Amino acid sequence: MRIAIVGAGIAGLSCALRLQDAEHDVTLFDKGRGAGGRMSTRRVETSAGNAALDHGAQYLTARDPAFVAAIDAWAAAGVVARWPAAGDDAWIGTPGMNAIVKHLVDQTQVHWQHQVTALRRSDAGWHVELLAPTPSRPPRRSTRHSTPWSSPFPPNRPRRSWPIMIRPWRPKPRPAGPRQAGPRC
Ligand SMILES: Cc1cc2nc3c(=O)[nH]c(=O)nc-3n(C[C@H](O)[C@H](O)[C@H](O)COP(=O)(O)OP(=O)(O)OC[C@H]3O[C@@H](n4cnc5c(N)ncnc54)[C@H](O)[C@@H]3O)c2cc1C
Repeated sequence: MRIAIVGAGIAGLSCALRLQDAEHDVTLFDKGRGAGGRMSTRRVETSAGNAALDHGAQYLTARDPAFVAAIDAWAAAGVVARWPAAGDDAWIGTPGMNAIVKHLVDQTQVHWQHQVTALRRSDAGWHVELLAPTPSRPPRRSTRHSTPWSSPFPPNRPRRSWPIMIRPWRPKPRPAGPRQAGPRC
């Protein structure tokens, strides 16, 4: 069966892999430019050097046997490691949280910068409507829309949160001199 999946976060990708294993023909669409979703890692240059900041999930815990098996496979692939500071069953992506999602992306095919704006059904089957980039026009930001497939669901108003990314400042070693600056915060 041909199956379209909207969103290449950990959920969409895990779903795609299970469907691929069952020999379905899966196509993933994601409005983002690259792997991560809410498990993104942002690399930034700062005056104190380069930094990688996980600005979604900080770590994962695995209790469900199926998820424990998935984590074991990711550990064998070197994309997760235990993080005892957060608990006995806590895991982090290595080197960043998006390593897990990138690992899953490697096993699938994702159309990045393809925003799904509607799903429509006709006699021929389901149609995916997209906002895709063209060489002259980057994709527009998300627009509000009402689609036939979304109407049966109750309104979902997610709670907003504001992640703050902080790179600890570490003073560079200074040459010894008569007046040495102490560490700044
Ligand atoms: C600040 C923060 C901290 C968190 N901390 C933790 C933690 O410590 N531990 C933990 O387990 N979880 C944590 N979470 C939750 C965890 O990150 C999410 O539950 C998980 O990543 C969700 O995965 P997902 O695949 O369902 O969704 P997402 O990762 O959000 O993926 C959805 C994807 O769909 C794409 N998309 C959306 N709409 C469209 C569209 N119309 N067309 C095309 N593409 C679309 C998006 O670009 C995105 O890539 C945290 C989340 C946040 C925001």
